[in-house]
Amino acid sequence: MGAVHSVHSASLSRASTIVSENPATGEAIGEVPDQPAEEVRAAIARAREAQRAWAAVPLAERCQRIERFAEVLMARADEVIELVVREAGKTPIEALATEVVVVADLTRYFCKHAPAVLAPEPIPLHLLKHRASYLHYVPRGVIGIIAPWNFPFSIPIGEVVMSLIAGNGVVLKPSEITPLIALKARELYLAAELPPDLFQVVTGRGAAGVALIDGGIDYCVFTGSVATGRKVAAACGERLIPCTLELGGKAPAVVCADADLDRAAQAIVWGGFANSGQVCASVERVYAVASIHDQLVDKIVAHARALRQGDAAVSEVDVGAMTWDRQVDNVERLVDAAVAHGAQVALGGKRSPGPGLFFQPTVLTSCRQDMDVMRKEIFGPVIPIMSVADEEEAIRHANDSHLGLLAYVFTRDRARGKALAERIAAGTVMINDVLHTYGCPETPWSGVKSSGIGRTHSAHGLRDLCETRHVNYDRIAIPREVWWYPYRNTTFQTALRVARLLFGKRFWKR
Ligand code: NDP
Repeated sequence: MGAVHSVHSASLSRASTIVSENPATGEAIGEVPDQPAEEVRAAIARAREAQRAWAAVPLAERCQRIERFAEVLMARADEVIELVVREAGKTPIEALATEVVVVADLTRYFCKHAPAVLAPEPIPLHLLKHRASYLHYVPRGVIGIIAPWNFPFSIPIGEVVMSLIAGNGVVLKPSEITPLIALKARELYLAAELPPDLFQVVTGRGAAGVALIDGGIDYCVFTGSVATGRKVAAACGERLIPCTLELGGKAPAVVCADADLDRAAQAIVWGGFANSGQVCASVERVYAVASIHDQLVDKIVAHARALRQGDAAVSEVDVGAMTWDRQVDNVERLVDAAVAHGAQVALGGKRSPGPGLFFQPTVLTSCRQDMDVMRKEIFGPVIPIMSVADEEEAIRHANDSHLGLLAYVFTRDRARGKALAERIAAGTVMINDVLHTYGCPETPWSGVKSSGIGRTHSAHGLRDLCETRHVNYDRIAIPREVWWYPYRNTTFQTALRVARLLFGKRFWKR
């Protein structure tokens, strides 16, 4: 690998230091310590101490205080955007829309709705009317968050905000590729005058993630690759720590014969190339019905050809740098293998000459389901397209994957769109649109199959950050329950008659 491609490899300057680099230029922009296990453990202990007091703060007051974080974030949005552009290679508009605004909106949303979402929930009992139950939501304690580099602000900080609202302390281990953004988030958190020890950031490599799970956290929210997710699940299982796993995706886009092709093409181009394709929800494979295939390809290529790529810090571009040198290698390998197996390059197809980490926006046609480019996560600016006979074949291929995070259907027929969407095994299926539900805090974000376990965002995601506890109580005081001692034959005979009446044949329903 040449010097150009070694940028953003989180290179080691001293044994205990990680250097962060600008992926568009290769320049070093800062360094952070590679923190050892004892420091990770100490951070958890500090967060636990602070969490005891925080959990005692009434929920409404917690929300009020956390809203201040949204204010500080928007007041200092320029700083975050500038750093996201420099450390992750994104364009300013992506940094604003997919990092800053997502978190500001999520913060406002949950601060407003958490009191209702986390209010005790009555469960009326259908038989034992003299008693009743309710659920109540109790903070879990310290949440360990392990985050990837592709949305270095919005993924972990959205999870941090939700965890804090739920009454927890948090220790975040950001990716070694983008640690400065996590530290910037903590700076804003402190500026919002929230309890300093309640939210900690520990920097380091994978070993710091291992130490976090081993260090006594009460819950783990992991976002990253399937391979690491398996290790995290095993480590959590060993310690019986519940976890949420948000893992890889291979989102199919099914384009029906009746689709609005102009809209579909633009959506697919944005869905495939936004953040240089480094999105777990990226359009990773297109199944186009044969009757519209050629027309769709022409439109996709025309839109993709118009994209400007480059260092977003110095010029107005549509596609920024890729973030990690190894990811560029992966993309190159997958594209080269696809071409060797018969895929046609309709656009791009090559790594750009340096400086910086750039892979040309690439459109591949004549792809087949057995190619790696249609089966493995690409995580780069590549749109492989396959022609299919009809929607049935498209759905079959869409479901032929070990992943199931996002999927997309394009059709003008809303009813058919919903019917097709419901047949695709994915946590979320969008009709005539792509990607953006991550920015809707009220909707769940989750994968099926190997794409994950549990969910983030939504009322469900917020409740998952709490222990759901059950209380059962007496509405009407009675001296004793009929099933208590002593056991009598007469009681048994009566109980059997009553049980038959209640659960046996229902004569009135004949
Ligand atoms: P990785 O799995 O490589 O890393 C994720 C995090 O885990 C990093 O902070 C990493 O640290 C840390 N880590 C590495 N090894 C261990 C370990 N043994 N125990 C605990 N933590 C560990 O993923 P990437 O950062 O490369 O992210 C890209 C992947 O994330 C893609 O597959 C993408 O699809 C997925 N993703 C999923 C999303 C979803 O919502 N489902 C959203 C965004 C991304 P370090 O970086 O320092 O090695």
